[in-house]
Amino acid sequence: MLDDATASSLSSLSLSELCEEVADQFKARFGDEPCWMVAAPGRVNLIGEHTDYNGGFVLPAAIDRYVVIAAGPSADETARLVAADIADEAKIQVRGAIHPGPVMWANYIQGVVAGFAARGVRLPCFNALLRSTVPLGGGLSSSAALEVATATMLEAMLEEELDPIEKALLCQEAEHKFAGVPCGIMDQFSSVLCQQDSFMLLDCRSQSVELIALDAPDITILIANSNVKHELTGGEYARRRAECETAAQILGVATLRDATCEQLESFREQLGTTNHRRAKHVVGEIARTLEAVQAIRDSRWQDVGELMYASHASLRDDYEVSCAELNLLVDIAQGIGKPNGVIGSRMTGGGFGGCTVSLVKTSAAESVAESLAEQYFQKTGIQPTLFTTRPARGAHRIK
Ligand code: ADP
Ligand code: MG
Repeated sequence: MLDDATASSLSSLSLSELCEEVADQFKARFGDEPCWMVAAPGRVNLIGEHTDYNGGFVLPAAIDRYVVIAAGPSADETARLVAADIADEAKIQVRGAIHPGPVMWANYIQGVVAGFAARGVRLPCFNALLRSTVPLGGGLSSSAALEVATATMLEAMLEEELDPIEKALLCQEAEHKFAGVPCGIMDQFSSVLCQQDSFMLLDCRSQSVELIALDAPDITILIANSNVKHELTGGEYARRRAECETAAQILGVATLRDATCEQLESFREQLGTTNHRRAKHVVGEIARTLEAVQAIRDSRWQDVGELMYASHASLRDDYEVSCAELNLLVDIAQGIGKPNGVIGSRMTGGGFGGCTVSLVKTSAAESVAESLAEQYFQKTGIQPTLFTTRPARGAHRIK
């Protein structure tokens, strides 16, 4: 049987409830109503995994889970931050030479502040309190949501909006320089640019964006967090990137975006088994992403589902970034199958743990979630966390 925590995990605080609680907590902590409030969502990638750094396509949507920040002016020389979810506080610099500080979570905010300061903007000092319904470290991009919420808060304070692409790139740079994470552009682009009821087709080479409407109320996104994270000491992410670069070099193309299946076959020997399999995933995944876009446009949901399963198999077998728990979640979903409302399922995010994304019939979402959780728990002894979402709105100012 499901315990109460799992059964109730399908729902969480709505955005307006979260904002209300954050405003109350801000007042309790700093004595005043907040002047500014902003929200920025996490994201889930429907298909197009490990294609971003190969100049390929990705197809994320913002999820109905947000980082909310409430802020007000302060007479201090620094900014005082409260992370209410983890009951921690930190001070960061707003002026002068800005460097990463000792508190890791505060560096995501510090990095964005530094990005604004580097543009020659004189920022006011402020107090801020933040909370989030995006799970931390679950592959749904709580870090990008935090950066983009910070940038949106600074825009509100300055009463000036950045160009959305410039804003996303500034946040990406903050993650590179202040958190030391060499991430691609998908997460920050999603949190800034996604719109309600749409997936976002992002061309990671040209950085151009096209919205793909999800106007089928009978289709729901179900996210299952395996609640495992296998820390791989060998730097698997960096190794995959290097393998892709080597493969591109051997094929004589700038990135694997420019490679074809025929090229892969004719260079099979020069590439060697591992590089060939890595490149095969990337070239196949880029094609699958574009096919999925066409299938969504045509409402060919069964085809979208098949592409999701194919994506998972490729990430598991050729790219080798899945893990037993993610494979199990996808196998269970596939076993529940079409007659019971599952359209497709795959791991989402970098891999080695984190979440799966499934498309399910809205009417069956609850029963699918329940049997997924139950079967996963039976086999692993781990309670997964599940929730449904529709493609949500990108970052915006609340107050
Ligand atoms: P993901 O982006 O997949 O959730 P990351 O490891 O990239 O995982 O980012 C998680 C980190 O972001 C946390 O360890 C923390 O430093 C920071 N973070 C995100 N959300 C919050 C929050 N609500 N409060 C404090 N820190 C947060
Ligand atoms: Mg992250």
